[in-house]
Amino acid sequence: MKNIAEKLTNEEYEKNFAELHPPLTQNSAATEANRCLYCYDSPCMKACPTHIDISSFIKKIATGNLLGSAKTIFKSNWVPLTCARACPVQVLCEGACVFVEKGEKPIEIGRLQRFAIESYFNSYKPQLFSKEKSNGKNVGIIGSGPSGLACAAELSLLGYDVTVYEANKIPGGLNTWGIAPYKLRQADSLKEVEFIKSFGVKFKTNTKVGEDISFNDLYKKHDAIFIGIGLGESTRLRIPGEDLTGVVDALDFIEDVKNEKWDKVSVGKRVAVIGAGNTSIDAVTEAKRLGAEQVYVIYRRGTDDMSAYDFEYELAKSDEVIFYFKTMPKKITGDNFVEGIECVKVKLGEKNEKGKRETKVIPNSEFILPVDMVIKAVGQNISNNFINDIYEIKIERGKVVVDEDTFQTGNKKIFAGGDCINGGKEVVNAAYDGKMAAHGIDKYLNSNKKSAIIR
Ligand SMILES: Cc1cc2nc3c(=O)[nH]c(=O)nc-3n(C[C@H](O)[C@H](O)[C@H](O)COP(=O)(O)OP(=O)(O)OC[C@H]3O[C@@H](n4cnc5c(N)ncnc54)[C@H](O)[C@@H]3O)c2cc1C
Repeated sequence: MKNIAEKLTNEEYEKNFAELHPPLTQNSAATEANRCLYCYDSPCMKACPTHIDISSFIKKIATGNLLGSAKTIFKSNWVPLTCARACPVQVLCEGACVFVEKGEKPIEIGRLQRFAIESYFNSYKPQLFSKEKSNGKNVGIIGSGPSGLACAAELSLLGYDVTVYEANKIPGGLNTWGIAPYKLRQADSLKEVEFIKSFGVKFKTNTKVGEDISFNDLYKKHDAIFIGIGLGESTRLRIPGEDLTGVVDALDFIEDVKNEKWDKVSVGKRVAVIGAGNTSIDAVTEAKRLGAEQVYVIYRRGTDDMSAYDFEYELAKSDEVIFYFKTMPKKITGDNFVEGIECVKVKLGEKNEKGKRETKVIPNSEFILPVDMVIKAVGQNISNNFINDIYEIKIERGKVVVDEDTFQTGNKKIFAGGDCINGGKEVVNAAYDGKMAAHGIDKYLNSNKKSAIIR
């Protein structure tokens, strides 16, 4: 990079990356729990993709039964600390709270869930679940993100011998390596990994399937396989200058920030982020918090078309990020290092068959924005070759096709869930998929079993 932003002091970094929503105290949690109306039809529970029995866990907080509260939450969701801190609650459980309709503040479900789970993790951690007797069958799980973790936890309690293969050196997927540190620190994500490890799940890290171990070996070794590999690198911009020094993939940048060695991450003085999804917002707010002086978002459509949530957009605006809407990058300029980005203004037309508005370049509207760093955040693709070699697995529009009830792929022995089947949603969706896939696997391997799982 040509111009690197001045390094901050450790205190400044810690202040900039301090958590957005601090935890509830015991008293404030009890007061908040007592505000809940325990609605008979629990709209919050319906709005949660993992269908946590929210009224019930809140009632248990109100009565001081914190272990019972944590158990209720874990029954539906194996990564509830991450979800409590990173879920877009405004559009899920809290958005559905009856208080919203009355024009009042919704129950702080996310913070109450965090209170219950942290109380458990900070306790002597008594065993909450009993494991079924070993059934002699084993399952291989590829990827230790929330989908893989949920699948592993559920299968392990059902009596399976479970091994998780993870390419990274530290498990947890994007919970550990992606989610902005002011929402969730690595150490919190790892508490969930340790909890699941305590069920007897084995983790083989630094093991990339397709490179360090062949998929065929895994296929022969295990009775069933779950694929929870998420998505891969960011989509290329396909414009000149994309390979200059100073052009980086949003995920690489965010992964460096998640290491929490803030002073080791270089950020330009002026940074342009291409794209306006939630990853792009994370990249701009993180760049700003690392000390970048000016940060821009360049997006070819308008505010209504952004996939970033409103509250994420507001956060970026409060960090003084400048948005260039209806603007397309044309070329990244510079000799060896990024020096600027040439953009062109566009006019928006009708929506196409994908529901996206067509863009039409406005002639002679080019302008150059001087920048030292360009971060690409225009979506991700599945970038695992091994999956393309399994001929029964269908990939449509960049997503692995599965049965929507069992999460089984075209190959009966292989199941999949999370971002690789939905194209990139939220942690809570991946957690649900992994759990449901575990039941799909159980049905496939244990089809004579009479009763449903009761814990
Ligand atoms: C920058 C960013 C910020 C986000 N912030 C939020 C947020 O605030 N809130 C929210 O709810 N959601 C957020 N999300 C979305 C959320 O993180 C994902 O939806 C979720 O993590 C998907 O889980 P997953 O299990 O499908 O995959 P991932 O979490 O991506 O995990 C996949 C794992 O598989 C491993 N893997 C891949 N290939 C192989 C292989 N061949 N062999 C072995 N291992 C392999 C990877 O190393 C990785 O650990 C964010 C996403 C991004 C990119």
